[in-house]
Amino acid sequence: MTPTARLVSPATTAVHSPSTDWRRTHTCGDLRSAHVGSTVTLNGWVAARRDHGGIYFVDLRDRYGITQVVLGPELADAVKLGPEFTISVRGKVVARDAANVNHDRPTGAVEVVADRLEILSRSKTPPFPIDAEEEVSLETRLQYRYLDLRRAAMRGNLVHRSRFINAMRRAFERQDFVEVETPILTKATPEGARDYLVPSRVHPGEFYALPQSPQIFKQILMVAGLDRYFQVARCFRDEDLRADRQPEFTQLDMEMSFVEEDDIFRTWEQVLHETFRDAMGVEVAIPFPRMSWLEAMERYGVDKPDVRFGLELKEAGAWARTCEFALFRDAIVSGGRVKALVVPPAHELSRKDVEDGLTQIAKGAGAGGLAWWRAGQEGGVGPLARFCKGSAAAELMAAIGANEGDLCLFAAGARDTVWKVLGELRSHLGKRFGLVPPNTWSFTWVTQFPMFEWDAESKRWFSAHHPFTAPVDWDLGGPDVDASSPKLGDLYSRAYDLVMNGWELGSGSVRIHKSDLQQRIFTILGIGPEEQQRKFGFLLEALSYGAPPHAGFAIGLDRLTALSMGLDNIRDMIAFPKTASAADLMCDAPSIVDPAQLAEVHIKSTVPPKKP
Ligand code: ASP
Repeated sequence: MTPTARLVSPATTAVHSPSTDWRRTHTCGDLRSAHVGSTVTLNGWVAARRDHGGIYFVDLRDRYGITQVVLGPELADAVKLGPEFTISVRGKVVARDAANVNHDRPTGAVEVVADRLEILSRSKTPPFPIDAEEEVSLETRLQYRYLDLRRAAMRGNLVHRSRFINAMRRAFERQDFVEVETPILTKATPEGARDYLVPSRVHPGEFYALPQSPQIFKQILMVAGLDRYFQVARCFRDEDLRADRQPEFTQLDMEMSFVEEDDIFRTWEQVLHETFRDAMGVEVAIPFPRMSWLEAMERYGVDKPDVRFGLELKEAGAWARTCEFALFRDAIVSGGRVKALVVPPAHELSRKDVEDGLTQIAKGAGAGGLAWWRAGQEGGVGPLARFCKGSAAAELMAAIGANEGDLCLFAAGARDTVWKVLGELRSHLGKRFGLVPPNTWSFTWVTQFPMFEWDAESKRWFSAHHPFTAPVDWDLGGPDVDASSPKLGDLYSRAYDLVMNGWELGSGSVRIHKSDLQQRIFTILGIGPEEQQRKFGFLLEALSYGAPPHAGFAIGLDRLTALSMGLDNIRDMIAFPKTASAADLMCDAPSIVDPAQLAEVHIKSTVPPKKP
């Protein structure tokens, strides 16, 4: 797509500004053999300048491409050109000799022989070359983000992101969704992170919170009868940043009324199918497979499984219960689990690989060690061999589906540790043996997560998703169950995630649409009546005016657009991202403000002023 048509019409040139003949007639990506003989004006940046004895060859770059321009000795300013100068050149399009055609560039069949050159703006020498694929430190890239974004790959990312999000918008609109903007200056919505606070000038001592998500507003829009809402929503979460987290990020957020899980899944499958098709020409297969959280954990050891390869976890509990290995038996007797990974001999692993590398991974995930066995009907090889005498070997092989010569790796102990250990080993082995087919988009819905998680440190329950998520059992295990009941740990919720290629893309849930149940959940979460009213009174009130059953979902657009480009770094999909310490290196935010400005919002800093 080129903007040529709207660039310069003779009328605008003549009427508005006769002096604007520097303005381009074509972009640097437009010219082809068909243009030979025409006179054109190009604007752009000097990507390269080669001196051929008084004649300069300039590669002129803009967003659309690069065109070679020839500047003869009569154009005196040519000698002054430096990298990244912005120029305007007018000249004739000529065909290049067959030997000089540049087949790597769409404009490579022609060049522009200039008869006019104007330097529009000079440039300091950039801290890194724009067109070379040179490793540049992240700090430098972020500090000079405008130069970083001038690079083709980064520009391509932003253009892709825009097309992708627009395709998604259109897909939602086709399904009759209404886009609504919810407030940024608002009240806290808990999504499990700290809030960013904004002091109020007009209400001394009071604060707005930036939204962690539009969760409560979108539910209220359902009470309002909007029926189908979506938004490209900016969310803010003040967390200790992990490598790939950003304090502000973008979600495609949505909510629907009079629906259950199924309706949300079908809506999103259609939207994603159309988005990948329209933005990328990729046909994503729908519907997506679904599995419960428990199944995901049992088969893959993680709640965001990469289902593009097998190597699933196998159950060895029944064998372990009566085996000769005391450690396995004890694990079962004390309520734990024994599971295995079975690696076929085609994926070669030496004893050293297992006892050093894999054992380290297992220990890092919380295992005491890694029991292994090279399966064999005659007893096999490895530390487990001595417990596999007689029929025990064949029974174990049958239990875990192992064949002669397979390497079997075992984890024993508490259920969550067993899952974690084998889940991490599986993902390591998947990468190591290249089991993942490239360029495939494999989506899976993971459903029915646990409702609550117990935090041993603060001795209280937390919502595994968020407090507005409906339980599978509307009665929460019975009317007497309260925060003191360990039974809460066994309850499942109607939360779901969408997982792609081992990444969690988004989450959602069927919501609580009844005020009394919502209050009961708050109470279980340790939020007493007074706090409920103060923080969520408006939601409880809204839910008591005929709230429809509703459900929703939100997908992280930074991650989805990155993965759709084959990138696993969301920073490269965000125009102006922050560092791991939540700083913007380009504009130096956050920064100190004037004491007068602080006083205006009734704030006094307790931090001693920095020495100059
Ligand atoms: N508000 C949730 C989140 O940001 C998504 C949802 O439940 O719709 O993860």
